[in-house]
Amino acid sequence: MKVYNTLTRQKEEFIPREEGKVKMYVCGPTVYDYIHIGNARPYVVFDTVRRYLEYKGYDVTYVQNFTDVDDKIINRANKEGSTMEAISNRYIEEAFHDADGLNVKRATVHPRVTQEMDGIIAMVQTLIDKGYAYEDNGTVYYDTKKFPEYGKLSKKNLDELIAGASERVAIDDAKKNPTDFVLWKPKKEGEPSWTSPWGEGRPGWHIECSVMAKHHLGDTIDIHAGGEDLIFPHHENEIAQSEAANGCQFAKYWLHNGFITVDNEKMSKSLGNFFTVRDIAAQFPYEVIRFFILNGHYRSPINFSRDLMQACQNGLERIKNARKELDFYIKNSADTKMTAEETAQAAELEKYKEQFEAAMDDDFNTADAISVIYELVRFSNIAVKAGVSKEYAEKIQDMLDHLCGVLGVAELKEDAVSDEETAKIEELIAKRAEAKKAKDFATADAIRDELAAMGITIKDTRQGVQWFRG
Ligand code: AMP
Ligand code: ZN
Repeated sequence: MKVYNTLTRQKEEFIPREEGKVKMYVCGPTVYDYIHIGNARPYVVFDTVRRYLEYKGYDVTYVQNFTDVDDKIINRANKEGSTMEAISNRYIEEAFHDADGLNVKRATVHPRVTQEMDGIIAMVQTLIDKGYAYEDNGTVYYDTKKFPEYGKLSKKNLDELIAGASERVAIDDAKKNPTDFVLWKPKKEGEPSWTSPWGEGRPGWHIECSVMAKHHLGDTIDIHAGGEDLIFPHHENEIAQSEAANGCQFAKYWLHNGFITVDNEKMSKSLGNFFTVRDIAAQFPYEVIRFFILNGHYRSPINFSRDLMQACQNGLERIKNARKELDFYIKNSADTKMTAEETAQAAELEKYKEQFEAAMDDDFNTADAISVIYELVRFSNIAVKAGVSKEYAEKIQDMLDHLCGVLGVAELKEDAVSDEETAKIEELIAKRAEAKKAKDFATADAIRDELAAMGITIKDTRQGVQWFRG
């Protein structure tokens, strides 16, 4: 299996440090608002990476944090006359709601910065003790010049960075180098704070991920992931902190997703060109949003548009309808075994699996993996039409279950229809059958329309009448 490692800028064979186990950390959102579809991308992409690693038999420990201390949360709390805690609790719940809708599995641990203060203070102290950090008037800075490898992830040169930053105005006088960044900052009036050896204050942004990764996964992890905007400075600074404090490599593989753009510009809160997952979910089912994200390669940009969402919805429906038809076929078929010819043909099924795995083994190419699912859907439709044995149909179903399950897409959930509604639908279908038998096609058509008005589509098949919502 090959993964593209931002650290080396090439695809590398994936070999976790401990056989059979993967330790993975994904930077999570700052919780002051609903997540937008750009934020949803790392959620869905790295959930899929995790699912695929699990499918390959790895035991994955997956950590995704919530940033619940931040200026943006405090500003929002002040604006609403609320508290930082209330705002972050609310938007953590909302983020879980969206993540659940997107079929993102819960992480093994979802740490929050406010619950990691002891570890944060301890790591800042270690950095001071080791000479990588200095304190000035209650602020602790990381001394970037002390870490010779600074810039190794973003491929930036420290001297050039310093020269560039020096040209800009408003450089903090207390910093030794303009590239130095804050590990701890002093309390401002009316803001939440914690007691530390450097006075009352709160942590800078970057230190939290170094600490949470260490606490929940250890000093060296296998995969560190996030959106590509985090490469610099956030992940560069995490490396500087963790490697200086722990004295060993921080993460073996660095994975970054590309942006979701609008009119080819990054979707972001600050540009105001964003669509929340919640708003989009009011127009398209959540599962379409997940499918939309997985339709592109995770490192390529995706330009968000209604047309593209619509195309994805149609594609997903095609897969789901094929699955429903196959399901119905199996439920209503006699218990027949595979013929000799079918046994020979079943080898084709293994080929789809191999192609799917080849796509996913090549740096998680979900776009190609979905193409394989489309091919399998075509294969399934032909088989159902040809009236294959039940055993053979079940083999196709197994394969579709498997492959769709890895991506977490096109899963067949029972349609949300009450018993009462089901009885009514079945009564109408029976009446329609009687009308057809009596050659009363006007009544039969009227019943079909009545069902359509209820949002129910019916299909006449050799196994009887199949109905589904949508
Ligand atoms: P934030 O809450 O802005 O820190 O973002 C949370 C996660 O979403 C990070 O991994 C970001 O890199 C990612 N992200 C933010 N905007 C986008 C975007 N437009 N496209 C893809 N990923 C994004
Ligand atoms: Zn982070």
